[in-house]
Amino acid sequence: MFKALLMDLDDTLIKSSQVYDRALEFSAYFLAEKNKLPKDEFFAIVRKKDTLIRKNFPTVHTRHSRILVFRHALDEIKANYSLSDLPAAEDLYWTFFDQNVEVYPGVYEALDKIRMAGIQIGIISDGDLRGRIRKVEAKGLLPYIDELFASEETIFEKPFSAIFTLALSKFEVKAHDALMIGNNYKNDIQGAQLVGIKAAIYNPPADGHVEGHDEAIIADYEFTHYNELPEILGLYPEASKTTKKKA
Ligand SMILES: [Mg+2]
Repeated sequence: MFKALLMDLDDTLIKSSQVYDRALEFSAYFLAEKNKLPKDEFFAIVRKKDTLIRKNFPTVHTRHSRILVFRHALDEIKANYSLSDLPAAEDLYWTFFDQNVEVYPGVYEALDKIRMAGIQIGIISDGDLRGRIRKVEAKGLLPYIDELFASEETIFEKPFSAIFTLALSKFEVKAHDALMIGNNYKNDIQGAQLVGIKAAIYNPPADGHVEGHDEAIIADYEFTHYNELPEILGLYPEASKTTKKKA
């Protein structure tokens, strides 16, 4: 039986990809209205800058910065904006995201069962610590986890090993005692395997977002619904009922 479950957040626990674009549109329209800019033209620039920021800051959490996206877009359209618009738009973006993102089916039930069996649960997610905690809290997931690790804490994003080894050392478990789950072959699966952690790809029949596929990367497990996860971890239906919750 595994002693620790490490989980990716975006598109593994929550359906993030469905919401990013809508959140971007929501905050772009706010800025356009406030600064009397043509809405659609401005949103097109915002999308372009979003792609640019993601490409220009690979492997560091600045890649997820929306405040830079809005600043670059407002500068390009030569808007006479107030600096206070920038954090306001970024706050709107994340508030919209947190309110509208959905959790995948079966997540709460599975995590409850796994935690009751004494397996430590941690989220390993690329980005800033504040934003990750906010997302998890907004979806009521905080009581289901023991820890959360953000790439901001270790400088480089997955698949770099630092965030994985940070989690192992915090949980005081060996690599072979942990299982990583995620939706990205390169970042989650290979990242974990490079430090000796077994990894499972989450590939649901609906709303899935598997990415980073490379035929050289082979997941140790694959699951399509969270009700399969306890068994992958070595738990059996009866075991979880009789095992006391870890203190
Ligand atoms: Mg992900």
